[in-house]
Amino acid sequence: MLVYHLPGTFQTRETDLDALWEAGATGLEERAGTLRVYFDGRVPLPPSVSDGEWHEEADQDWQAEFRRTLRPVRAGRITIVAPWQQEEVEPGQLPLVIEPGMAFGTGHHATTRLAVEALSALGLDTRGPRGTGARVLDVGTGSGVLALAAALLGARFAFGVDIDPVTVPIARENAGINGVPASQVRFEEGTLGLDALTFPEEGVDAYDVVVANLYAELHDLLAGEYAAHLVPGGDLILTGILTGKLELVREALAREGFDDVRETVDGEWALVTARL
Ligand code: SAM
Repeated sequence: MLVYHLPGTFQTRETDLDALWEAGATGLEERAGTLRVYFDGRVPLPPSVSDGEWHEEADQDWQAEFRRTLRPVRAGRITIVAPWQQEEVEPGQLPLVIEPGMAFGTGHHATTRLAVEALSALGLDTRGPRGTGARVLDVGTGSGVLALAAALLGARFAFGVDIDPVTVPIARENAGINGVPASQVRFEEGTLGLDALTFPEEGVDAYDVVVANLYAELHDLLAGEYAAHLVPGGDLILTGILTGKLELVREALAREGFDDVRETVDGEWALVTARL
């Protein structure tokens, strides 16, 4: 790989950038006061950039770099790991294996981590009928991460639905990777509310916990549906909420009769828990 190292930054070299692209650059990167300009071969460069140097560098394996930099995510009693990181889970933590990059929900987004922490704090194994484990509904399941976390935490039954049909086989595959049986977790294309596809809820009509990592406006629209699918005293966990939109969610929860509303903020993201 041929890289031309040019002293400066995108800002100080702004007037040279067009000339570099015209000369055949295939990529530009700024690192520690040096512009790294990638070329397929050595080409004549204009005099304005003659203060740089050519370097022959080893090709970078971006896939390997990605795998190396990806870290396990610890959230409550769960540690979310990629398949090749299973040995990095500390004793006492429950490993949840998710293949990164297939559907939203690798644990690396703050909202997913906040939701797994909130599930972890609920004592799912002793909730539900006769204390035999909670029934959990995960709306917008993506990779299935939250439903699977609930199952690993002892939920008796976790049901993940998503409007995006692409996610369903991915979530099912993640269930298989984690050894969670079909009797404990189920994934289907579906949703709640006005634009509901068929919402398949055979056998279970109310849940002990509803969790949804969506966005504030949708939580506002779905708040009545969340209430309709919860048992009295059931727990609601909502995230995907930008802190600037918290008020919308607060008002929706008050309107639908939720109480014990609590908020956790991580940077620009918020998670809200409430009880019916
Ligand atoms: N639950 C995963 C997590 O916490 O990482 C994924 C959350 S991702 C931010 C939101 C998911 O919700 C996407 O997979 C998207 O397809 C799905 N979604 C968006 N609108 C939805 C709706 N109205 N009903 C059900 N799923 C929806």
